Amino acid sequence: MSGSIWVLAEHWRGQLSESTYELLALGREIADGLGVELQAVLLGHGAADLAKGLGKANSVLSVDHSSLCEPVPEACAAALVQLIKERRPRSVLVPLTNISMGVGTLVSTAVKVPAANFCRDVRVVDGGLQATCVLYGGKIEATVTMGAECSILGIWPGARAAENGRSDVVPPVEPVTVSLPEAPRVRFKRYIEPEAGDVDITQQDTLVAVGRGMQGQANLALAEELAEVLGGAVCGSRPVIDQGWLPLSRQVGKSGVSVKPKLYLAAGISGAPEHVEGMKNAALIIAVNTDPRAPIFNVAHYGILADALEVLPALTEAVRGKKG
Ligand SMILES: Cc1cc2nc3c(=O)[nH]c(=O)nc-3n(C[C@H](O)[C@H](O)[C@H](O)COP(=O)(O)OP(=O)(O)OC[C@H]3O[C@@H](n4cnc5c(N)ncnc54)[C@H](O)[C@@H]3O)c2cc1C
Repeated sequence: MSGSIWVLAEHWRGQLSESTYELLALGREIADGLGVELQAVLLGHGAADLAKGLGKANSVLSVDHSSLCEPVPEACAAALVQLIKERRPRSVLVPLTNISMGVGTLVSTAVKVPAANFCRDVRVVDGGLQATCVLYGGKIEATVTMGAECSILGIWPGARAAENGRSDVVPPVEPVTVSLPEAPRVRFKRYIEPEAGDVDITQQDTLVAVGRGMQGQANLALAEELAEVLGGAVCGSRPVIDQGWLPLSRQVGKSGVSVKPKLYLAAGISGAPEHVEGMKNAALIIAVNTDPRAPIFNVAHYGILADALEVLPALTEAVRGKKG
């Protein structure tokens, strides 16, 4: 439908992603603010059933093509380009995740429409769209006003609560055909699984995060003990992973994963923008650092100015005492 807001519905291994629901919540707000319809675009192969979960949208455009069996950005972009040229939506919201990163920019250059990337928020202001974009790993925040023409908006995870994008309503689905090359230049090769038996830190409610301030690998036992009594897991900053103290699957930040636990206890972590990018959405952040000017204190809800090697065992004892 011309002039409507579109959300690219992202899915992986038979499930819609949390980012999809976040974008549906945001898209609903924008569409209602503009008085237009919200449509979800579902690209895949044998994935049409997933449309049932997209009821927050007024309708779903469903494309089934063998080149879309894996989420390859070039193929997804080519399909979106055809749909946009035919139907001219007002704006297309694309999740900025490992799965969909890059789709928006490819589409924007192919259709020659403006794009705002790294959006933390998008609001309707005076009948137009205003995006808040986070640049340079969070050092700069830019407010971008989009014109009335079609635009592409790349949205960071966490822009809205995923719960607000879920609905029991089954939306009407329109199957749409696109022509794509059967053998695209870029092919999905394999998904690198987390190391066997390792925990998925994105799913933990409690994380004890360690940084270079922990001084050495042997001291990580202090963090493991605390994580164990709290029922959580240990993760780390990049230098900790680079030095082999923890596996890559435990790295939080720009080149690791983004986490959103209920509690994030950062021990001996300075709070560089590349790290903060991956943990700033935690519900409660507690930082332990010996440097009062450490930037981690700017994002922490509580700060402990002390030696982490003393604080962690004391916390472990205190929690044990409470439990016991
Ligand atoms: C492109 C790019 C991508 C990157 N991606 C990531 C990423 O994904 N994740 C990431 O974490 N980093 C990433 N980085 C690196 C990032 O810039 C920082 O270098 C890194 O986060 C610093 O890690 P740290 O805080 O553990 O170490 P440091 O910066 O060395 O900080 C150690 C902190 O420990 C404190 N300290 C020292 N001793 C103690 C003690 N006994 N008790 C308490 N506190 C103590 C110090 O005061 C200091 O604040 C990236 C960098 C680039 C350029």
